[in-house]
Amino acid sequence: MTIRDIDTLIIGGGVVGMSIAYGFAKAGEKVRLLDEGDDAFRAARGNFGLVWLQGKGLSNPDYARWTMASVGRWSSFAKELTQTSGVDLELSQVGGLTICLEEAELREYVASLETLRSAIGTHYPFEVLDPQSLRELSPHIGPDVVGAVYGQLDGHVSPLRLLRALTENFRMLGGEMIGSVHCDRIEHRDGAFHVWTDGREHVAGRLVLAAGLGNRDLAPMVGMQAPIAPNRGQVLVTERMQPFLRHPSVHVRQTGEGVVQIGDSKEGVGFDDGTTIDQLARIAHRARRYFPILENANIVRTWGALRVMTPDGYPIYQESGDCPGAFLVTCHSGITLAAMHAGPLVDWMRGASEPPEIHTFKSERFDV
Ligand SMILES: Cc1cc2nc3c(=O)[nH]c(=O)nc-3n(C[C@H](O)[C@H](O)[C@H](O)COP(=O)(O)OP(=O)(O)OC[C@H]3O[C@@H](n4cnc5c(N)ncnc54)[C@H](O)[C@@H]3O)c2cc1C
Repeated sequence: MTIRDIDTLIIGGGVVGMSIAYGFAKAGEKVRLLDEGDDAFRAARGNFGLVWLQGKGLSNPDYARWTMASVGRWSSFAKELTQTSGVDLELSQVGGLTICLEEAELREYVASLETLRSAIGTHYPFEVLDPQSLRELSPHIGPDVVGAVYGQLDGHVSPLRLLRALTENFRMLGGEMIGSVHCDRIEHRDGAFHVWTDGREHVAGRLVLAAGLGNRDLAPMVGMQAPIAPNRGQVLVTERMQPFLRHPSVHVRQTGEGVVQIGDSKEGVGFDDGTTIDQLARIAHRARRYFPILENANIVRTWGALRVMTPDGYPIYQESGDCPGAFLVTCHSGITLAAMHAGPLVDWMRGASEPPEIHTFKSERFDV
């Protein structure tokens, strides 16, 4: 069966694909999104929910600029999604903390932020806090903590609510979602993309590959490379607690519902998204040193999820030279960057000039 009535076909219904799908639908295009079943690898459903700037792009100021632009757009992006769907995203952007347990760790981190700040040449706000000022901001901090960096623009959001709001908005704008399908073949002929899912054929003028780890197999079908690999992060969640933590940190955040999310690990273990006692114990131990109040908290859930990582950790945003109209999008901060993906990235794919920050994010950089 052939279905031929769409402008843009998107493969992948994680947060990256959904943000892009929403952007295209908002621009008035006829969009279809294809996604696998519930057993697929989905970073979008296992992540930490940070909308985060500090520490991003330490070796690439363009990435820091791109991230900063997204963080700046997040508040209006969230309002817009909530207004139409009624879904509260639990966005809080009151500033976030990178908490340090060693003097040397803090010193090195601050030095790298200062270098980035001079390279960026624009306002890049952060403040170094000693234990006393940190305690004024976050009173439950433990005695082992030697200081922290406070990033005024950092925040967090509910990643599952974000996904729901994007999906609902996309549908309300006429977008079509087909779930539980696996795309296994793409052809480009006569200026159109023919995509097969379990025997069905979809035909579109534009194609966006936003399939997370699945992009590795899909990209070569339209003349591109996606040298990405899984990187596992393990996460723990406590029972609901009285609110005690207003400012999220890269390892501990309290959600709008009161549970405390604790992360994470960075493990190259292939496609194994399970959990291990040694990593969970290490993560819990560190969190307890940050916030001793967690000592008696009950852990109610743990999980592992796979990051979508390029060799240098930066995104790929690319149009195929061989098959114009096919785009590859992959990144490992899909929550933080959702506002840019739904806005300027979609504008570029629709013909606007390429945002200068993303000129260098092509997969050719890995060819050497
Ligand atoms: C532990 C952890 C913590 C994280 N914390 C943060 C954070 O705090 N802030 C932040 O910004 N980011 C964070 N991230 C990263 C963020 O989750 C990812 O950037 C984002 O989820 C990637 O989204 P994605 O849509 O590209 O991939 P995914 O969410 O993996 O989605 C890809 C989708 O494509 C589908 N698919 C794949 N192949 C095919 C195919 N052939 N046919 C059809 N469908 C296909 C899959 O079914 C899947 O639904 C974290 C990630 C992890 C793992």
